[in-house]
Amino acid sequence: MNSGPSEVYYGSVIPGNTAEWAAFAAKVDEVIKRLDFSTIEKKDKVAIKMHLGFRDGYQTVPVFFVRRVVKAVKAAGGYPFITDNPTAVYNAADRGYTQETCGCPLIPIAGVKDRYTYKFNANFHSVKTLEMGGVLHDADVLIDLSHVKGHNTCGFGGAIKNIALGGYHGPSRWNKIHGVEASLPYWDVKKCTPEHAKKLVEACKDGYIKYDEKKHKLIVDFGMCHQCMDCMEADKGVGCLQIKQENFSLFQELMALGANEILKQYEKDKIFFLNFALDITPYCDCWGFGQPKIVNDVGILGSRDIVAVETASLDLIGKQKLIESMIPPFIRLHKGKDLHPFQRLHGPLKNPYITLDYAEKLGMGSKTYELVEVLPPSDTRKTKGPSSVSEAAPSFF
Ligand code: SF4
Repeated sequence: MNSGPSEVYYGSVIPGNTAEWAAFAAKVDEVIKRLDFSTIEKKDKVAIKMHLGFRDGYQTVPVFFVRRVVKAVKAAGGYPFITDNPTAVYNAADRGYTQETCGCPLIPIAGVKDRYTYKFNANFHSVKTLEMGGVLHDADVLIDLSHVKGHNTCGFGGAIKNIALGGYHGPSRWNKIHGVEASLPYWDVKKCTPEHAKKLVEACKDGYIKYDEKKHKLIVDFGMCHQCMDCMEADKGVGCLQIKQENFSLFQELMALGANEILKQYEKDKIFFLNFALDITPYCDCWGFGQPKIVNDVGILGSRDIVAVETASLDLIGKQKLIESMIPPFIRLHKGKDLHPFQRLHGPLKNPYITLDYAEKLGMGSKTYELVEVLPPSDTRKTKGPSSVSEAAPSFF
């Protein structure tokens, strides 16, 4: 485990000067420079793992910045390619990502039929094995390029989620990782009558409790449950149901485990993390629709330490207040001054830092970090440099 602080380079969206060299794109370039791609060797195959969105879910890392990452990899001598699940790759052009716009090929992470995988023994509660994408596995270098946003199952999606879920083929992701929360008991069948089970179903106004009367089985959708505890109120006097931390934490622990297994495939100096904390939405990029941004844009964070970059991203977002006027009416916000904005959205038991505790225990990195701000507005405000250039006549000749 790392003991000292890890460096996290940070560029804020706020410029200190009305010129290009002090603005956000320049900060992105500077963060990439500080990350130092010189450990990429000539002809290394460089996987840029992104979430390319789904259907109308377009709020991913803007192609404008993807091109800059690709360009920097090429300048270092690497052969970059972008990878994600096959559906996202096949229709990536709908959201602006093509070989022409990005500057490199887009390749499905586990082959064209999502079957090219490497299996490993996870042996984690109900999850015995997981299969990581073979294309990701075969790369020499990993650039984990993430859009930071909320996530209904674990509170937060960033660099860990981008590989812990997105690095695996569909059946691993959807049938095994999603659903692991139910592998610890949460319902006492002997204490619950069918009538009481129906009462519990009614108590959950959002429909996250289902009851199969034929099998006499109560199913809680822990992925969506936001812990309003209305069902627990309805269960008073019977005591057959538990909505407890342990079930939610299973998903976060498995995410850390899954991400760690992917990181083990690469040499330590060939892994880079870039978190874009822009257009921070309540839910993941795979929801397939446009969402309001619920806190102000933060900026770009880069590190070679996945735990540090995630901690810094969460800390910076935590300093923001939720923009309450942007919260959709179907989200019931939690109150509490100590809650992170993502907990206010998804419930106090979906504390996004829990994943980082597990990741740190696995030796994936350190929650202790040093934030190195690049081109801070306080400095660039005072710096004299070329003034801004605006186009007064066509300048492409
Ligand atoms: S705690 Fe979860 S399952 Fe229970 S009523 Fe609230 S949202 Fe539904």
